[in-house]
Amino acid sequence: HAQFAVKRAKVSGRAELYQFQDFAIARAQFGMETELRRAIDNGELRLAYQPICDLSSGRVVSFEALARWTDRDGREHSPTNFIAVAEESGLIVPLGRWAIEEAARTLVRWDAAALTPCKIRMAVNLSAIQLQRDAIAPVLQAVLDSSGLSGDRFTLELTESAIVTDPDGIADTMHALKALGTTLAMDDFGTGYSNLAYLQKLPIDILKIDRSFVTGMLADRDKVSIVRAILSLAQALGMRTTAEGVETHELAQTLAALGCTYGQGYFYARPLEADAAYAMVQSGSAPS
Ligand code: C2E
Ligand code: MG
Ligand code: MG
Ligand code: MG
Repeated sequence: HAQFAVKRAKVSGRAELYQFQDFAIARAQFGMETELRRAIDNGELRLAYQPICDLSSGRVVSFEALARWTDRDGREHSPTNFIAVAEESGLIVPLGRWAIEEAARTLVRWDAAALTPCKIRMAVNLSAIQLQRDAIAPVLQAVLDSSGLSGDRFTLELTESAIVTDPDGIADTMHALKALGTTLAMDDFGTGYSNLAYLQKLPIDILKIDRSFVTGMLADRDKVSIVRAILSLAQALGMRTTAEGVETHELAQTLAALGCTYGQGYFYARPLEADAAYAMVQSGSAPS
């Protein structure tokens, strides 16, 4: 296992990190990688759907699709952990393709069940590594062709790390995704390290304000200042905004008053199984 850890460190160029990791962790990660590979092949992954609501009306406008993995022993794995393992091992490519396909299958099912056509959108996360290694626009095009869905049903969430890793490549990919009719959102905004100039150069529609600035902001002036600054930046650039981590009614009200467009968080709902999410669409609303 020691040898394995060193070899992987060289391949992924993260020797510093691995040097300090003890073998137990390396072994656990290797175990998880094997298990995750099997889970993807055996269809053990599923998506949970968390509503994103219009802050002023409380209406559900879209859902974020979030990967979930319960293994054969009934253990639930944290997405933060298994997505990191998927990124390091390259499994993010099949996992990411599966997520887009599964989100599309859910939309098709919801459309078929709806009495009145519902144009609810689905937001899917794309990781930086996945964008480097896979041709996402053709993958999405194939999903649209086979499902009959139009591209405007999808929002794609990217993080700033995607821009740092490959600024030119990412610009081409983003334009190709926009050409399919999708909405593009910058996820976890405010936590990355990239040059802000990218904001006006890239076709970004929505800034998602990271949860770390939102949670607890009512008792923290600095957080309010950061949120205000992000909101005015977005407004100046003609972008909409989504606040993550909206856990209370007061937060929803305050963010609406500050001019934030959408909210997502436990106040509206936790990530839900598909049926519960669809019930929310049908009821048409959420608490306001
Ligand atoms: P994210 O894209 O920023 O997703 C939002 C995360 O915040 C989710 O965590 C969600 O459950 C959590 N959350 C939502 N509202 C609240 C709230 O009010 N309070 C608190 N404390 N947390 C809230 P989750 O599901 O554990 O996912 C973690 C991360 O894993 C996601 O962060 C995303 O970066 C990644 N991820 C999940 N599924 C996928 C996927 O299919 N592909 C990729 N590339 N990444 C994924
Ligand atoms: Mg996201
Ligand atoms: Mg986020
Ligand atoms: Mg996040």
